[in-house]
Amino acid sequence: MRLDVVSIFPEYLAPLRLSLIGRAVEKGRIDLGVHDLRDWTHDRHRTVDDTPYGGGAGMVMKPEPWAEALTALLAEPAAAGTDATGAEPAAPAERPVLIVPSPAGTPFTQAAAAELAGREHLVFACGRYEGIDQRVVDWARDRAEVRLYSIGDYVLNGGEVAALVMTEAIARLIPGIIGNPESLTEESHEDGLLEYPVYTKPADWRGHPVPEILLSGNHAAIARWRRDERLRRTAAVRPDLLAGLDPDTLDALDWAVL
Ligand code: SAM
Repeated sequence: MRLDVVSIFPEYLAPLRLSLIGRAVEKGRIDLGVHDLRDWTHDRHRTVDDTPYGGGAGMVMKPEPWAEALTALLAEPAAAGTDATGAEPAAPAERPVLIVPSPAGTPFTQAAAAELAGREHLVFACGRYEGIDQRVVDWARDRAEVRLYSIGDYVLNGGEVAALVMTEAIARLIPGIIGNPESLTEESHEDGLLEYPVYTKPADWRGHPVPEILLSGNHAAIARWRRDERLRRTAAVRPDLLAGLDPDTLDALDWAVL
């Protein structure tokens, strides 16, 4: 996967060089580019913002530097067709996905992360101030699949933290990035339920014992206990998730817990 992030604070994206994503970048599984939007300005002050039309507080990011940056990064897809040697035509390159973090975007979900993990080229446009001039988003639709994503119902100062959140959620789902793919299957949000509580040694810690069933060696009973805990936890903390489940996926034992 090719991953480009554009920001006026490229240092903010340093964590992309750490841990799992950092290793994937080192191994060439993710081809990472972090770019300073100001490199596409041409005035002495490297200006990226201006006052909003219609008045009001704050500044708005100017369209020109964004258009130059995105023209450079959202390269035209390679045209399909027979090459000079008459060889089979190469499959046309997939459209890049331009992700614009925004509190006014659609909620970013595990399902979105899973879908984006299969894409070839993601470009994150990190806004600051009151956001990016709307015309950039409209203009970019001819060059990329544009998505506005919110990471939650609150307002951050800039899109960098949101881009870090989304890239981490996406990158860990790229096949081969996480050592044991089984660890991804039972996680919260994979199938609409939250994960069960987890424990490690010692079996008794400061008077708090591990649930006995987990020491029983009875795998079927452990699986049932874990399923019950997932249902209880989801019902208690996120009834909205439970309401969204297909009732046909719940069996009689599930209903007994609920
Ligand atoms: N005026 C904007 C509004 O009310 O929708 C908020 C702008 S915010 C101060 C600056 C930037 O932070 C946004 O352009 C976006 O890139 C990022 N941002 C803030 N909150 C976010 C959220 N919940 N999810 C994703 N990005 C967010």
